[in-house]
Amino acid sequence: MPSGSFVLAADLGGTRIKLGVVDARGVRAHVTINAAARAGLTPQLDVIREALNALCARVGLNPRDAVGIGLGLPCLVDAEQGRVLSAIDKYPDAADVKLQPWVAKSWGIPLRLENDVCFAALGEHRFGAARGVDNAVIMTIGTGIGTAAIIGGDLLRGVHGQAGCLGGHMTVVVNGAECVCGNRGCLETEAASWALPRLVRRQPGYAKSALSDADTVSFPDVFDTAARGDTVARAVLDHCLACWSAGVVNLVHAYDPEIIVLGGGVLARQDIIVPHLQAYVARHAWTPWGTPRVVAAAEPNEAALLGVAAELLKGAEQ
Ligand SMILES: [Zn+2]
Repeated sequence: MPSGSFVLAADLGGTRIKLGVVDARGVRAHVTINAAARAGLTPQLDVIREALNALCARVGLNPRDAVGIGLGLPCLVDAEQGRVLSAIDKYPDAADVKLQPWVAKSWGIPLRLENDVCFAALGEHRFGAARGVDNAVIMTIGTGIGTAAIIGGDLLRGVHGQAGCLGGHMTVVVNGAECVCGNRGCLETEAASWALPRLVRRQPGYAKSALSDADTVSFPDVFDTAARGDTVARAVLDHCLACWSAGVVNLVHAYDPEIIVLGGGVLARQDIIVPHLQAYVARHAWTPWGTPRVVAAAEPNEAALLGVAAELLKGAEQ
C-alpha cells in the first residue's frame, strides 16, 4: 500500500464513541467521547467530525487524504449498500441519517458502514487474539451483547447482511423478559448491562443488598459486591455467567469456530469470566474434534478501530 495510507475510524457504542486515526501500524491517535446513544446519531455528527479533524491535526494529517472512513454502529447494517437497515434503542434515527452525503461534504472520502462488532471481529482477526485463525467468533459484552463470525477468513454476512450479528438476541431463557428486538429471553436481555437493574430487582431481598440502588448498578459493582459475599450480587453474577456460557455454546454450535474471542468492558474481570466459559464449553459443546478456545480480546478498546484499517487499507494494498 502507499506509505502513509491511513483511515478515519469511528466505533459507536451504546455508552461511548471511540474515534481514531489508524494506519497499517496501528492507532496513531484516538479519543473517546460520551455517546448518549438513545438521543440518536444526528446530534453526534458535528462532534464526530470535529473530533476526527482534531485528531488528524494532532498527528499532522489532512483528513481529506484518508483512504476512507469506517463507521461501526450497534445496528443491523448492509455493508455492501452502505445502509443502516435497522436500529432499535441505540441511535434510533440511524437508518434515516444520510451518512454518505455527510461524509462527502465533510471530507470527500469513501464511507464504509459496518456493524460495530463486525469491525471488532475484523480487527481481532487481523491484529489481535484471532490472528492466524480463520474461523472465529467474537462476543462483546457491554450495554448490549454483540457478536460476529469470521468463517474461512471472511466475515459472515448472509443474504441480508445480518448473519452472525445477532448472537446477543439468541434465546437463552424461554419465555424470558421481552427484549427491545421483539424476541423474549434474549442473551442481552438476560446478561447485558442495560438489563442489570431488572436482574437485581427480581432477586429476593434486593433492597437490603449493597446493590439496592439498582438504577445505577454496573458490572464492576456486581463483581465487587459478589466478591464481598453479597448474595444478591452473587445470584446476579451467577445468572450472567450462566447466560454468557449458554450464549457461547450456541455460537459454537451455530458457527463451528476454533476460537471464541470475548470483548467489552466486563472483560476487566477476565480472570473469572474466561475460565468459567472455557470450562462450560469443554463440558457442554458438541465438538468431537476438540474444544474451541475461549479467550479475551487482545485489543479490547481498539479492535473496531483496527478493523476499519484492516478492511479499508486492504483495498489500498493492491
Ligand atoms: Zn433481543
